[in-house]
Amino acid sequence: MSPDRARPVGRFAPSPSGALHFGSLIAAVGSFLEARTQGGRWLLRIEDVDTPRTVPGAAEAIVATLARLGFEWDGEIVCQSRRTEAYIAALDALKAGGHAFACACTRREMADSALTRDGARRYPGTCRGGLPRGRSARAWRVRAEGMIRFDDAVQGPQREDLAQESGDYVVLRADGLFAYQLAVVVDDAEAGVTQVVRGADLLDSTARQIHLQQLLGLPQPSYTHLPVATNAAGEKLSKQTLARAVDAAPPAAALVAALRFLGQAPPTALALAPVAEVWRWAHAHWRLAAVPHRRQAVADELS
Ligand code: GLU
Repeated sequence: MSPDRARPVGRFAPSPSGALHFGSLIAAVGSFLEARTQGGRWLLRIEDVDTPRTVPGAAEAIVATLARLGFEWDGEIVCQSRRTEAYIAALDALKAGGHAFACACTRREMADSALTRDGARRYPGTCRGGLPRGRSARAWRVRAEGMIRFDDAVQGPQREDLAQESGDYVVLRADGLFAYQLAVVVDDAEAGVTQVVRGADLLDSTARQIHLQQLLGLPQPSYTHLPVATNAAGEKLSKQTLARAVDAAPPAAALVAALRFLGQAPPTALALAPVAEVWRWAHAHWRLAAVPHRRQAVADELS
């Protein structure tokens, strides 16, 4: 392996459904420091595959906020909305391998089936052996089989019985859009990502992503799921819980709050320093081992 290929590659992959909030800042800071402190590259990808959820101007606003906070990314920013051909090729490979099947079922037809790990309906298998007579394909699903095990650098050893916990999952949705699970796997592989560092709200997606990597013959990155930030009511910070944009806080203070959340101990005075100084401190002191694994509430001014 050439030295350059051994160099880690991390990434931050925000969905442009609103401004950058404190929850995504944590993923940005954690992924950035994990890559950079190992001499690695850090990539930025805009996850706008779910076009109906894309808010016009949000991607530009997120990029501007990241720049203001002193993040520096390598190479061009990739946008999923321009990557449809690569997703089509991956779906074709899944079809050719007999791993994907067309599905005619509507949500209403699945209303009685059990819930999966992330609260969706587990697919009852109706179209697994072929479309029922007179029905046409709405979506494409992947056959979920086997036990997936992986070691998460923060959350510890994980295992998922795919059929039980996720069920046959959608890779091409009924509205014609590719599912996040497929897009993220194809994009990470193409970019040579070796480490995925993101919020623990995505821990449940990881087994499906590893499954797709296995079916498509793609390398498996390492996984690090950071604790999820909540508001005082214990709800995950997101655009839905009206998380305030990180922009409302002075940049150094926002970075210092993110570092504290991640279990690091930056001196209080850094919150008033130029951002370059916060980054100098963070590069010298970042310790993944100090990151807590539990969800935590953050102060009102950040939620
Ligand atoms: N786009 C996802 C989000 O904003 C992150 C996906 C990932 O990091 O794999 O929550």
